[in-house]
Amino acid sequence: MNDYRVDERGYYGAFGGAYVPEILRGAVEELQRRYVSILESAEFRREFDRLLRDYVGRPSPLYPAERLSEKYGCRIYLKREDLNHTGAHKINNTVGQILVARQLGKRRIVAETGAGQHGVAAATVCALMGMPCVVYMGKTDVERQRMNVERMRMLGAEVRPVVSGNMTLKDATNEAIRDWCAHPDDTYYIIGSTVGPHPYPDMVARLQSVISEEIRRQLLECEGRPNPDYLIACVGGGSNAAGTVYHFLDDPTVKILLAEAGGLGIDTPMSAATIHLGCKGILHGAHTLLMQDEDGQILEPYSISAGLDYPGIGPLHAHLFTERRAEVFAVNDDEALRAAYELTRLEGIIPALESAHALGVLPRVKFSLQDVVVLTVSGRGDKDLETYLKYMER
Ligand SMILES: *Cc1c(COP(=O)(O)O)cnc(C)c1O
Repeated sequence: MNDYRVDERGYYGAFGGAYVPEILRGAVEELQRRYVSILESAEFRREFDRLLRDYVGRPSPLYPAERLSEKYGCRIYLKREDLNHTGAHKINNTVGQILVARQLGKRRIVAETGAGQHGVAAATVCALMGMPCVVYMGKTDVERQRMNVERMRMLGAEVRPVVSGNMTLKDATNEAIRDWCAHPDDTYYIIGSTVGPHPYPDMVARLQSVISEEIRRQLLECEGRPNPDYLIACVGGGSNAAGTVYHFLDDPTVKILLAEAGGLGIDTPMSAATIHLGCKGILHGAHTLLMQDEDGQILEPYSISAGLDYPGIGPLHAHLFTERRAEVFAVNDDEALRAAYELTRLEGIIPALESAHALGVLPRVKFSLQDVVVLTVSGRGDKDLETYLKYMER
């Protein structure tokens, strides 16, 4: 049987590893040595479970979407991560990592953010724990995501605009790593997805795996079996998808469908479909698939959804694709917009634009009536209203 877990060297097949500057070696190796025992300790479990329940609002509902099911001729359940505190799945990860930081005796938090969703989730848990928080954000993103910048500031975080490169997520991540290099002893870096050097991809996947743990329990209750026929999730760096599939990876009867952002189309220069368009390289400490030119320069990704335009992808997902464990769809801007309106009008749920890419997979698959499909709605769409309205006017 294939093993989809990370190996002791930090690899998923050919992808992963920990390529960090010498100065970070100590901090990263300490995390590698300690993360599993911290995450499995009774003290961590107790505190994590308590915060997920009382602060985040878990378990999130598994909602049988009847009108959507009727439309696609199968039984669709929506995993409602949009109902979490701060409006997305990202809070599961930041709650977990701030507890890890505390266990390691760190006193200061840095984070990167693109659209601002991870920055807000990090600033939120820092407020909760009374820890200073610095969030690096590309200047371009600071300007186009004002509301999230103001939220982070209200929460007490310092937002540092990054002016290198294209002034977006990749550059913000570089800057956060640079800060960590300057303060390796007292600072903990909360990464927002299943990316970065080992052990981050595995640690974030484990923290988000509360999603698939709940799906199993909830499906057993309403379907009499814990396993669905299909799982569907969108992929930026891969954390909500990793959380959705985690406990189903070794069951080949569960089909995994992932949606990456096609942008204007994978045959145009305006795309963020890393798995379709990428080739092997190293970004932010790990071997993975990357959008790059012939000289290895990272290409600027494009998607209508600010949470999906990352030029890399988690090493786990690169592996799942290479091993054909997951089928990956490039869902374009217009398909995602159409899917978002469809969910809104059929079910009264306005999804995040990222999640709308997962919904955009539904018309591409031929389901049968008894198929049980679980689709993760990773976040709510309040932040995307302007984009949605602009589309409606056309
Ligand atoms: C950040 C974000 C994503 C993409 O990140 P993953 O790590 O791939 O899950 C998807 N949906 C929402 C709502 C987000 O905020």
